[in-house]
Amino acid sequence: MPGKVTAFGECMDSPGTLNLKYTLMKTPAYAAPSAKAPLAPFTVERREVGPRDVAIDVLFCGVCHSDIHQARDEWGGSLFPMVPGHEIVGRVSKVGVDVRRFKPGDLVGVGCMVDSCRTCPPCRKSLEQFCEKGAAYTYNGTEMDRRTRTYGGYSTAVVVTEDFVLKVPAGLDPAAAAPLLCAGITTYSPLRQWDCKKGDRVGVMGLGGLGHMAVKLAASMGAEVTVFSTSLSKKADALRMGAHNLEIVKDEGVFKKLAGRFDLLLDTVSAPHDYGRCLGLLKPLGTMAVISVPTAPVQISPFALIGGNKRLAGSLIGGIAQTQEMLDYCAERRIVSDVEVIPVQKVNEAYERMLRSDVRYRFVIDIASFKP
Ligand code: NAP
Ligand code: ZN
Ligand code: ZN
Repeated sequence: MPGKVTAFGECMDSPGTLNLKYTLMKTPAYAAPSAKAPLAPFTVERREVGPRDVAIDVLFCGVCHSDIHQARDEWGGSLFPMVPGHEIVGRVSKVGVDVRRFKPGDLVGVGCMVDSCRTCPPCRKSLEQFCEKGAAYTYNGTEMDRRTRTYGGYSTAVVVTEDFVLKVPAGLDPAAAAPLLCAGITTYSPLRQWDCKKGDRVGVMGLGGLGHMAVKLAASMGAEVTVFSTSLSKKADALRMGAHNLEIVKDEGVFKKLAGRFDLLLDTVSAPHDYGRCLGLLKPLGTMAVISVPTAPVQISPFALIGGNKRLAGSLIGGIAQTQEMLDYCAERRIVSDVEVIPVQKVNEAYERMLRSDVRYRFVIDIASFKP
């Protein structure tokens, strides 16, 4: 008697036994074999589409600094071999029988998550990133069965359950839209949470992939945006993106001159840095949202928070509903990322360049041209 097919395409033959019954699709990819080795060609096995699955031919995949942190095991616990990539834009190639929202040929996106429990209180509020069972992350994790490894978008195809697939609205350039799936939602979400609006003064620390999206989005909401950067050479770009000014963080005088001016700070600096100095920039009751994940713990003086009832907050990506809202918002306003499109063979070089802050402003891998 055939077993019951689950959402993941496994077959439960007898209680407690999971057997993969579907044909697995061999999919060319690029993977980090270990924390110390460069990324190299690899083959992943994608499941055949189940009833609620969407198979996607990947066109473009952005390169996020989180890919580097994880491929180099800077946060600990990385799973190897690892196929990074969670800024995926592609075309639907096949859908399962119960899929209602997508059809072959649709332009779609996949971000940092590919599943969650759907039933816990955070999931019911579409805060799937806080799923009480732990969301299934697009790579360096497992599906909700906690066994089947997930592999990301540095690969020619992905198979994702319908509810975690986003519609990429017409009018958005597919390559330039790919970074919206992580850099876009990760900066849009805190701007919404802390109610960014016309006239607010918003500071963006670091003008990289996340930082440049933060500038564009905050400016589109009417904020007066100041960028805090190590590179004066990025000033013209920052102004073109809608910033009011760019200040150099090496200059201590800047922190004195601008003390107490900002309603909201979005911190996207990927390397360890001084949070206390940033908190000094806030107005009373202002919020500093920590978005970046440098590897070393930080120390701050309680006085930096108490003087002015300031908030030091965190923000992790964004839920699926808000990701779709952000994509629609960006499409209406023609907001996309500034990208440098590269072949997958250049990904190791791209990582090195990102570590030198030498990227204007997001590398995006042209996966469609990947011929293994
Ligand atoms: P990125 O493109 O490499 O940008 C990081 C920027 O930080 C650089 O462009 C640079 O800006 C600044 N920076 C780098 N090294 C620095 C140093 N030593 N001192 C001062 N500034 C430095 O990285 P990203 O993709 O935007 O990601 C940024 C961080 O956010 C990473 O830690 C990533 O893991 C994290 N992240 C978090 C979430 C979340 O959900 N919270 C989601 C995605 C990514 P300037 O050249 O302007 O100085
Ligand atoms: Zn990311
Ligand atoms: Zn949940």
